[in-house]
Amino acid sequence: MKTAARIEDQVESYDLIVVGAGPAGLSFVRALEGCGLDIAVVEQLPRAVLADPPIDGRDIALTHRSEAILRGLGIWPNIPAEEVSFIRHAKVINGGSPYALHFDHQETGKEYLGAIVANNLIRRAAFAAFRETAGATLFDGHSVVASGANEDVAWAHLDDGRRLQAPLLVAADSRFSETRRRFGIAARMRDFGRSCIVCCMEHDEGHGGTAFECFHYDRTLAILPLAGRRSSVVITLPSSDAAEVMAMSEEAFNRDIAARFAHRLGSMRLAGGRHIYPLIAVYADRFFGRRFALIGDAAVGMHPVTAHGFNLGLRSAATLAGEIRKAQASGDDIGADRGLRRYHHAHDRVAWPIYLATNVLVGLYTDDRSPARFARDALLRLGNLLHPARHAIMRQLTDKAA
Ligand SMILES: Cc1cc2nc3c(=O)[nH]c(=O)nc-3n(C[C@H](O)[C@H](O)[C@H](O)COP(=O)(O)OP(=O)(O)OC[C@H]3O[C@@H](n4cnc5c(N)ncnc54)[C@H](O)[C@@H]3O)c2cc1C
Repeated sequence: MKTAARIEDQVESYDLIVVGAGPAGLSFVRALEGCGLDIAVVEQLPRAVLADPPIDGRDIALTHRSEAILRGLGIWPNIPAEEVSFIRHAKVINGGSPYALHFDHQETGKEYLGAIVANNLIRRAAFAAFRETAGATLFDGHSVVASGANEDVAWAHLDDGRRLQAPLLVAADSRFSETRRRFGIAARMRDFGRSCIVCCMEHDEGHGGTAFECFHYDRTLAILPLAGRRSSVVITLPSSDAAEVMAMSEEAFNRDIAARFAHRLGSMRLAGGRHIYPLIAVYADRFFGRRFALIGDAAVGMHPVTAHGFNLGLRSAATLAGEIRKAQASGDDIGADRGLRRYHHAHDRVAWPIYLATNVLVGLYTDDRSPARFARDALLRLGNLLHPARHAIMRQLTDKAA
């Protein structure tokens, strides 16, 4: 089905152009399976990398809702069961205090609070499902070097001179989206001046399915339970200290992390490389423009402390796909403002409170002054006492429709 008017003879027309075949872009295309749309997906990475992406150190904590979406998209079955681990408890600890805010899966009536899957395995599974999607054409190994839209059509120019056009262009090209910029959509960015080092570690003691978030005074340490006696370790620290930590010998690094974690897991050993990411949060002023929409990190790029980035990205993909399906079913233009605006409002309603709360939390837990230390200790104690607050957080993790 090709509806777009041609602007030039050599232009290839599609019903939809997606820029970026990351987990959000691929999930979005899967969510349109069966619509009969001709979809062009442009990705700068080669197909061989998409089929088997290298380990990037990120282990993604997924809510029950995200797991349900991934199942519905046919992505979840492509993730080997033995590669999925589960968070049954979560504890938040402030500095050296033995006191912890505790979340327990038993209070939710569910077997676990959330699932954990390595990012490269999510990407691999999403690409395997994408390959089965009728009507999707991949332009791999190519970047979009120019893009824009007029009243009738959106267009993208590739680095090999090819020109694509469609009634709608969707950007899923990361939090530093060039496409967002080209469509003139501003974004508020917050550079935390901090970096995050992620790695997998083995340890002597079992973790009992417990995830820990430890707010030390200069560093935050998050530990996510993986299969066996392994955990995913996320260290958040001032960027000025990051090079030194990356350069530490394995032995020194192992000792340092075990000590910072008060030896709760016994001695700890690196089980792979260390990966570093700058911490920059991004929120686009609007999630749509003329014949244009933003999804995934291109719309909302989160600080990873609350593990919401991909969960929100999946949600944006599902919400926008829902609007496109509605427009199609009623014979409307899928690139018309009305549906895109509805998508913007729906996603903004969900994402903005989470984005704000995450940034406030990051501010509070990285501020070493005494009032902040006192406030976060008080918050943890209050959190344990205020059952409605704790239950609301757990519901957010475990409800399929939350
Ligand atoms: C350390 C860390 C831990 C995290 N933990 C969690 C977690 O526990 N839970 C959670 O939900 N989220 C987590 N996240 C966030 C999650 O990783 C991201 O939200 C998610 O990967 C974003 O997916 P995306 O598809 O939007 O963008 P990306 O993964 O950035 O993909 C963008 C794609 O677009 C392509 N591209 C870019 N520009 C162009 C161009 N011009 N032309 C063609 N292609 C282009 C890129 O090559 C890439 O493939 C974490 C992030 C980090 C850094």
